[in-house]
Amino acid sequence: MDENVLNKLKILAESAKYDVSCSSSGTVRSNKAGMVGNTVGGWGICHSFAEDGRCISLLKVMLTNYCIYDCAYCINRRSNDLPRATLSVGELVDLTMEFYRRNYIEGLFLSSGVVRNPDYTMERLVRVAKDLRTIHRFNGYIHLKSIPGASRELVNEAGLYADRLSVNVEIPKEENLKLLAPEKDHKSVFAPMRYIQQGVLESAEERKKYRYAPRFAPAGQSTQMIVGATAETDKDILFLSSALYQRPTMRRVYYSGYVSVNTYDKRLPALKQPPLVRENRLYQADWLLRFYQFKVDEIVDDAYPDLDLEIDPKLSWALRHPELFPVDINKADYEMILRIPGIGVKSARLIIASRRFSKLGFYQLKKIGVVMKKAQYFIMCSELPMRTVNEMTPQGVRNLLVRKPKKKYDDRQLTLDFGEERE
Ligand code: SF4
Repeated sequence: MDENVLNKLKILAESAKYDVSCSSSGTVRSNKAGMVGNTVGGWGICHSFAEDGRCISLLKVMLTNYCIYDCAYCINRRSNDLPRATLSVGELVDLTMEFYRRNYIEGLFLSSGVVRNPDYTMERLVRVAKDLRTIHRFNGYIHLKSIPGASRELVNEAGLYADRLSVNVEIPKEENLKLLAPEKDHKSVFAPMRYIQQGVLESAEERKKYRYAPRFAPAGQSTQMIVGATAETDKDILFLSSALYQRPTMRRVYYSGYVSVNTYDKRLPALKQPPLVRENRLYQADWLLRFYQFKVDEIVDDAYPDLDLEIDPKLSWALRHPELFPVDINKADYEMILRIPGIGVKSARLIIASRRFSKLGFYQLKKIGVVMKKAQYFIMCSELPMRTVNEMTPQGVRNLLVRKPKKKYDDRQLTLDFGEERE
């Protein structure tokens, strides 16, 4: 590989690593005659977890890390002194194809700093995707970042070649965005989100009438919010996420604990390390919204504007509502079983299916995968000694369940530990 391109790649991959919205789940496309490769859904592509717990991809790269904007929270801001590089459209296309053919990657996650103006930059991003698809018959996954402020025409064109498009909200409240990125506003973010939504919905309508009508961003759209750079509460963040999920094409909201990339700027907090526990709790709350039928105001409200960092949000909710427990595991409906701490979606389904054949007890639940260490205080079933949250008191259960820090507390090991794995 050309040494010059390799050097650029090093700089631009480093610059891209702070964007966490790179999961690729959502598209399944098998190999076709005349096309190169395939896209595998479910597992996501070209991402892995680096040692700092962040999602990175093998070819997660920026077109350029030059930027005309000076967003204080961003490593690529205009005023930052860092090595800069730009890949040409041709270089980026060749690089992607070379990596793809060697099986290093399954797709491309492409973002960019803004050069000249949003449309100038967006036009180049679109050209990369277009050349890959139309000239090189690239059939892998493409996730393009749409540039805030880009025109509807370019966003519409991008949707014809990309599997997923995303526009980052970055800062949940506009007044805080203005404080750190005075050249930006929420309108420039929400307008392209709307264009993407319209494109996806129109394409779905077209495809009902004409089987071969072009697909538009079949994996929908995603966005990212930075956590901890500004004073928003978890309530602010989750209410916005919940509103975004009301949009039919919004598949994922990512939360990125703020990495201190600008220690001189007094507008930003002096964080020794990113707030990864908070980031993890937000992901758990996000799962409750998407898969556990929780409403956002059940998770956070004026009385509890921030998530409890010591326990997961489902356990926190259950401890605030002891009057709803214990739940009879052999009689309760699916919705209520889902709300029991220690029971995930898979276990809840298995419980409903299994109890048709026999009454479930402690050992069957354990076999199903229920985390009995948590669930035991919230359920009724045969063979279980009755020491529920009501006898023990919520505070007593909490004391038993709060994790004691081990020798060296490593919050990166936290998972979505109410019975599900991360998407
Ligand atoms: S526009 Fe994007 S790349 Fe440029 S400084 Fe702001 S966040 Fe960073």
